[in-house]
Amino acid sequence: MRQTSAMLGVAASVMLAACAVLIGTPTTPVASNPVATHASASHGSSARGLRHGIRICGTPELTAADVDLVERFTDAERRKLGKRAAAALSGPIPVAFHCVYFDDAFFSLGLLTQLEIQAQIDLLNSTFAGTGVSFVLASTSFTNNEDWFSHFPGSVDERNMKLALGADPNEFLNIYTTDLSQWGLLGYATFPWDLRRKPDLDGVVVGFDTLPGGSAVPYDEGDTAVHEVGHWCGLYHTFQGSCSKRNDNVSDTPAESAAFYGCTFVQPDTCPSAGLDPIFNFMDYTDDACMDEFTPGQAARMIKMLTTYRKGL
Ligand SMILES: [Zn+2]
Repeated sequence: MRQTSAMLGVAASVMLAACAVLIGTPTTPVASNPVATHASASHGSSARGLRHGIRICGTPELTAADVDLVERFTDAERRKLGKRAAAALSGPIPVAFHCVYFDDAFFSLGLLTQLEIQAQIDLLNSTFAGTGVSFVLASTSFTNNEDWFSHFPGSVDERNMKLALGADPNEFLNIYTTDLSQWGLLGYATFPWDLRRKPDLDGVVVGFDTLPGGSAVPYDEGDTAVHEVGHWCGLYHTFQGSCSKRNDNVSDTPAESAAFYGCTFVQPDTCPSAGLDPIFNFMDYTDDACMDEFTPGQAARMIKMLTTYRKGL
């Protein structure tokens, strides 16, 4: 939620390198970011879970060609559905929540409480209110596994974790909490159009420390999960496509040239097209305290994508 206290504006100077990921290929996180270069495989460090620099989302940025493909494929799927295409979801999306943590005789990290998990679900419902998308906690699991807890997106450990724990991705939103901080990431997600070809990897992974009241300041209000679930529902970043006419394929989120970091009251205007940069949008990289909006256009896109690709919800 946006705060009224004085906050520092930090204009993004770099557009994060987009991963060259085609539809259906494994998710690969950003590798060229300096925050990610201090990745360490060491275990037992008390610094784990505290190493977030700036918001980095591991969900792949698609190329313009990939976006073209997604949009054309989606239009074809909608035509196939015809009058059978639902206009709304049938009810709240059931969430299978998986807390993966690490605990041995000397060290413990990542074990959440049921209250903390419910607070995240409640936040999803309050932030998605008005979009036509809502959530209900269907199940919770707690798993002590060091390899899965510290997995790297795209790794064998990710696959093994999801194969072992994931509920049917056609019927559930699987949310996993792990320690992504050592990779410089806050979270990552799969897109709905990848469900059919990669059902085993479907879902959202967020750092355990990003839940409401977590330690990943300034990403400690639970908005990382909101952002990643936005991807899971079919939204791109607001800075997708930079200043291109199409940008994020949502007409009421003005184009912005690059991600915005930090928080400010003065909205920049980095593209020649109409409208100020949508830095308060959940799909930008702003601090949790500064992001508080999904637009009607994003809501419509989420419903369209969910009713096209996630019909079993
Ligand atoms: Zn993202």
